[in-house]
Formats: sequence, C-alpha cells, structure tokens
Amino acid sequence: MSKQGNIQISSENMMPIIKKWLYSDKDIFLREIVANGIDAITKYKKLVEMGETAEDESNKNYCIKISVDKTAKTLTVEDNGIGMTEDEVEKYITQIAFSGAADFLAQYEKAGGDGIIGHFGLGFYSAYMVSENIEIFTKSYKADAKGVHWESDGESTYTIEECEKAERGTKIVMHIAKEEKEFLDEGRIRALIEKYCAFMPYDIYYNFTGKDDKALNDTHPLYLKNPKDCTEEEYKEFYRKTFHDYHDPLFWIHLNMEYPFRLKGILYFPKVKSKVELERGKVKLYCNQVYIADNIKEVIPEFLTLLNGVIDCPDIPLNVSRSFLQNDRQVQKISKHITKKVADKLTGLFKTDREKYQQCWNDISVFIKLGCIKDEDFYSKVKDIIIYKDLNGEYKSLNEFLGVKEEEKADPATDEDKGEKKEEEKQPTTIYYVSDEVGQAQYIEMFKNAGLNAIVCDTFIDTHFVSYLEYKEPTKFRFMRIDADVDAALKSAEGGNDEENKALTEAFKAALKNTQIAVKAERLKNENVPAIINVAEFSRRFGEMNAFYGIAGADEDRDMTLIVNTANPVVGAFMQLDDDKKKFVANQVYYMARLAYKKLSPEEMKEFADNNEELLKNYIGK
Ligand code: ADP
Ligand code: MG
Repeated sequence: MSKQGNIQISSENMMPIIKKWLYSDKDIFLREIVANGIDAITKYKKLVEMGETAEDESNKNYCIKISVDKTAKTLTVEDNGIGMTEDEVEKYITQIAFSGAADFLAQYEKAGGDGIIGHFGLGFYSAYMVSENIEIFTKSYKADAKGVHWESDGESTYTIEECEKAERGTKIVMHIAKEEKEFLDEGRIRALIEKYCAFMPYDIYYNFTGKDDKALNDTHPLYLKNPKDCTEEEYKEFYRKTFHDYHDPLFWIHLNMEYPFRLKGILYFPKVKSKVELERGKVKLYCNQVYIADNIKEVIPEFLTLLNGVIDCPDIPLNVSRSFLQNDRQVQKISKHITKKVADKLTGLFKTDREKYQQCWNDISVFIKLGCIKDEDFYSKVKDIIIYKDLNGEYKSLNEFLGVKEEEKADPATDEDKGEKKEEEKQPTTIYYVSDEVGQAQYIEMFKNAGLNAIVCDTFIDTHFVSYLEYKEPTKFRFMRIDADVDAALKSAEGGNDEENKALTEAFKAALKNTQIAVKAERLKNENVPAIINVAEFSRRFGEMNAFYGIAGADEDRDMTLIVNTANPVVGAFMQLDDDKKKFVANQVYYMARLAYKKLSPEEMKEFADNNEELLKNYIGK
C-alpha cells in the first residue's frame, strides 16, 4: 500500500539559514515590513471597491506609521490595512513561504493582482535578521474580528493569543537585537525609508503625532503621470529631489508603456564630462513603487547606468535571488526596449532640434560613444547622429563631413549591384582628427592653409572610439591624427627631386643631435614652416591604449619622423651652409618642430634657449 505525505522542513534548521542567506543586505527588512503594510492597505481598499465590505469611515486615512522606542529597543511599523484573523496569522505568518498574496489573488482574481507587492512569503521573516523577538498585534477587517497577539523569537516556537486592539490593521513590533542597534537610530531609519520607500503608494510617517505630519514619501511620483501632463519644471524638480543633483539635467526620456509589458520611468541625461563623473550614474529599479535595487544590469543595459533615472516595471519576475533574472526572456525584452527608447529620443532630437542637440553634444558624446562600444545594437541605431566639430567650428556627422548623400549610405542594394570586385576595391576614406586644439595648433594652421579639414576628437574615450569605428566600418573610414600623416596630407603636388631630397635628408640627419628620429625631405604646401613632426598613427594609438589601461607606454620618440620642408627658404639654403651652421640650423629647426608637437626634454629646452639667445645677439650685431 502506498502512502502520500508532505516533505517536512524543520524550522529549527531553517531559521538560521533564512536569517543568514535570505537577503545579502540586512537593510531590506524594513522594505519588506513596510511593503506588507502597503499590501494590506491595497487589499483592504480592493475589498471596499468590490463591495465585499463597507469602508470604515473612522479609519480611512490609509497610511503607515513608523516609530522607534529607544528605551524598549523596539522599532514599530503600523498599518491600517486588511488585518489578520487568528487563523490567518497561523496560516500566513507561521507557515513560512506560504504567501498570503497568492491566496488573496486566487480568491479575488477578477479584480486582478495589480499593485500587490508580496509574492514569496518570506519577506516577514527577513525582520529576524535584525530582531531577537517580534510581536504582531493585528485585527482583521472582518465583522466581529478579535484582536490577535502573536510573538516569536524566530527560532522555532511562537505564542498566539487574543488581545485588545481597537483599530483595524496590523502593528509589527520588532525587538531589535543588541548588535543591530543602528536600527534604533532615527537618522538611519529615515535614510532607509528614503531609499526603499520613497515612492510607495500610501503615506509613510515617522513618529506620527496627529497634527502637521509630513509624509516621508511621494505617493504619486512624477514618472507615473502621463508624459503630456508633466511640465519641464516638474521634471527638473523630480530630478533634483531624487538624485540630489543641483545641476539641471540636459534632457530626459519619459518611458510609459503598457504592452507587451508594463514599464514606466524617467531617464535623465546629466551633464557628464569626466570619467569619474561617469561612474556616478544611477538607474533605480522599482516594482510597483517599491525600490528593488540600483543599476541591475539585466534590466538596464550597462552603458545606460551612466544616466540617472527611475524605472518601474511591475512585470519583472522578481525572485528572492536576483541571479534568476539573467536568462529571463522578458527581462531581455525590457532591456532592449529601454535601449531602443534612448536611441529613438536621441535620433528624434537630432532630426527635430539640431541646435539643442549640438548644444548638448559635448555632454552626451561620451555617453553615446561608450554606448556604441558596449552595445552594437545601440551603435547601429545612433551611428548616423554622432557628430564632430570640424576645423571651422561646425558640427557634422561623418557622412556630412565626407559629403556622403542620404541615398548613397542608405541603399545597400547599390553596393551589391556594383558586384564583389568593386566591393574589394573599396578603400576607406582617411579622416584627420585633432585631439588637442591648442597643442596641435601649428598642424591645424597648416591644414587650414592647405584647404584641408579635420574633426575634433578630444574626449578621453576617442582613441578607443575611432578604433571601434574602423573595426565596425573597415571599408568606410580610417582615422589619422592630424600629426600622423603629415607628408601625405600636406605634400605639395610639385613633389621634388629625389636625388636632392636624399642628399638633404642625409645632411640633416648627420647634423642632428637627436639620432633616434627619422628624417624625410618633402615639399609641403606651406612654405613658412621649415619642418614638422610626424608620428605614426598606429604605434601612437597603441601607446595611448596602454596608458589608458595603466600599462607603461612605449618609447615616445619611436616612430617619430621629422619632415623637412623643401619649400621653406631656410631649408632651401641648407646645403650651401658650412658644417657649423648646418648643425645650428638643423637642430634649431628640429626643436621648433618638436615644440609644435610636444614639449622638449629639459636638455633640449636649454639648448633651444641658448641658441635663441645667440640668434638675438647676432641679430643686433653683438
Ligand atoms: P509575502 O509578502 O511575499 O506574501 P511575507 O512573509 O512578507 O510574504 O508575508 C506573508 C503573508 O503574511 C502576507 O502574504 C500576508 O498575507 C500576511 N501579512 C504580512 N504582513 C501583513 C500585514 N501588515 N497585514 C496583513 N497581512 C500581512
Ligand atoms: Mg511581503
């Protein structure tokens, strides 16, 4: 004969495990207890709404009251919600993991489960992480319900008895354990309420007095409103209050959708300039107005955590352990949707308000570029709205900069029509960029004089970003810093005599004290500059990448070439000079070129200064 039974879990063994492992963060107990009170009010109001019970007129200021008694060492949370009968306390509180929420929902399915927070039936016990004993005083809404007093040290036994309780609702009295006395501190409790309960849907009071009390929470946070009913000032105020940032945000995105999942929230673009500031962003995740955590990477794509924002998603499958979120399809959809909305907002702004977009650009560019590097989907959505300042101070996308027309870039069919051979021949266009407008002034000047243009890439991730673009668009772009391809960019069409150039190169090299640097003679478009330094793009970039990751860089002089400009009159006369003058001129020309690229070494600087003094003496004939 077979027999059926329930597997028994002994509470003596369970309780220590629950206490230790249930939540890694002890603070969370207050959220759980307050959320239960909120649930209890929601349930009561639902019953009233459905006509299951008449609203108690004397007790309808729905709220949660929190107080601390330092002498008794208790923290108390009281609600005027649905309350519990003795049977319910036994069933819902005493049987761990038997969530009353599921029961309630099953019973009142027709009203929908909207707004009820609890699901797992473990929240109440989290209070034992900080309490040595907990008492419950509760009275159900049911007609002629009696007050119930329950008490347990959370180890294995409890007592339950009838008691006097005047009002409907539940009062949880937590006797705080000695080593957790921080939870008897008013400041600590207020901070926890601000963190976890800021947007809970009923008023929460600390030390309720009955007159002039101010609730600690915002029961109707702005993000729940319809975007078209929100004013600019409201958005800014919500931002200041929620993120304690006194700088106004640049702009924001109000998320508001019902289908295929519910998602509400506001994402703010803060002013971001440095790498340090970047790490300050915070996207707070809520579920039915209950705070869950910051920057949960499964729901909010990592690069978006550079923004500040609140997201409320009642449909996230919350679990005691968040690691379950990772593989959830729904969660992935939510994450993708958020990314898409951000890209839409940015492209919309680019198309409809280019001026504002350009004004914000310096503040958002780092964020967008980082987003592209981290998320290819995001890149493909925003690649055409990434803009760069050019040498004339105009902001252009790369296509605009290169003069590529809409049709050319948008029609993949034409590429195919050209056939494979054409595709192979397609060479990327070289785009010159400036990483330091002041430091590279001489190069900029020469470029401008030669009728060339370049883009400015001077944020700290630009070296990464141009490499990323080359990797993503190998047939379209190749990037060269303005000092990296001088001979190709500035070479005069006239060229020069190879023999003569070779002789000049040799003579210059022989005269130079710096024996490391390579020398190349070239006729440049500008004649007023005797020489200019060229530093190979890829080795320099490699060094920068190493520096970014804190790896010692390569020798700076490596891959540096001194381009000697044969169009310049001083260089033109060089070969006729005697050896002493050759030395003087060659080194001085090098120092000048080197200074226009980067600082000289201390010895070089001294020599340069001495030479200048000699020049001045000669000039005045002393
Ligand atoms: P959950 O909230 O996930 O259901 P809890 O352990 O937090 O699990 O609570 C268990 C159950 O106890 C709740 O579902 C509810 O039925 C009951 N309960 C807890 N706190 C209250 C309260 N303040 N008022 C009424 N019922 C409560
Ligand atoms: Mg709960």
